[in-house]
Amino acid sequence: MPSIGRNEPCPCGSGKKYKNCHGPIDAEQATAQRKIKQAPDTLLPKLMDALDRFGLELPAALNRFWNGSYHVQDIKELDQHEDRGSERFLTWFAFDAQNEAGQTPVQRLTADPEGLALTDAETQVLSHWSRVRLQPYEVVAVRKGHGLQVRTLFGDELLDLEDHKAAKRVELGEVLITHLVPAGDTQYVAGAAAQLTPDTIAQLHEFAAVHLQDMRRSQPDATYADLIQSRSHIFNHFVMALPREQQEAGKLDELVAMTRAALNVTAEQIGFGSAETERSVPAVASGAPAAADGSSDDVAEIDADNDANVGTGVGDTTQTFETGGLPHPKTSRAEASSVPQYQGQDD
Ligand SMILES: [Zn+2]
Repeated sequence: MPSIGRNEPCPCGSGKKYKNCHGPIDAEQATAQRKIKQAPDTLLPKLMDALDRFGLELPAALNRFWNGSYHVQDIKELDQHEDRGSERFLTWFAFDAQNEAGQTPVQRLTADPEGLALTDAETQVLSHWSRVRLQPYEVVAVRKGHGLQVRTLFGDELLDLEDHKAAKRVELGEVLITHLVPAGDTQYVAGAAAQLTPDTIAQLHEFAAVHLQDMRRSQPDATYADLIQSRSHIFNHFVMALPREQQEAGKLDELVAMTRAALNVTAEQIGFGSAETERSVPAVASGAPAAADGSSDDVAEIDADNDANVGTGVGDTTQTFETGGLPHPKTSRAEASSVPQYQGQDD
């Protein structure tokens, strides 16, 4: 907003002084915008605290997100096994895990916010979060001291990410696998963000194409947007397969090959090794069953209160990405080219 003296004539041409005309209106709008931008800071912890309402769905979600690697009894130790494991899982559970009716906890809390004690700004911001999912973003511009511009890797949507700390440590061409939540005209990181080197992009495309191909067996018109809406857990499987040590560099190729075998999709079917782009995935008629996601009947309660990793304040950009000293002590990994680095709130 251009600064106009309170006693100067209002730019609208009314002839009145600014303070007696549009001044108060502009000030009110600026306050409202500031409240919108700050809302994620307080809204996310409220959502995380409400997750225990959905505890019955936790075991199946845990299994799906971690590809069967962890179970309810492991939940307290997730952080020992995976970088920011509990934060990553609970953020995904809130935004992505769907019940039988296809509704995520965030969607159900949006429809029934009773008990959340939301402010008007929080309610307004939450109304735009129902389609937020875990997905990869390519960094297309870095504005030092301000933030990033990212592009959805499967969608060509350009988004501005306000995060001056991220702008210091993220490089052009890198990939962030994370939840970006909108507030006003900018995006914030919710929870942790995996930072991947640019050489993972080709494998990410191939991996997602295999899954889309599989999805099209039951849903022939499915797009990448549909894949992200209903199967975003695959991106965590991808992160889990990223090499932690130099000698593990083949793990990603292995994952793609294993996924292809499990889903019975060949490279030719998805157009790799040909001139076809990853966007022109042809549908096939063969009906091999998809790899089923198992589930368990165990009941668990989410212990969201005493976990410092829960409800990362995303609006406070100083907390979303930390400065200097990579790798993070918790996320220390070897210098393999595709090593994922988790960025998040420090404890
Ligand atoms: Zn005026």
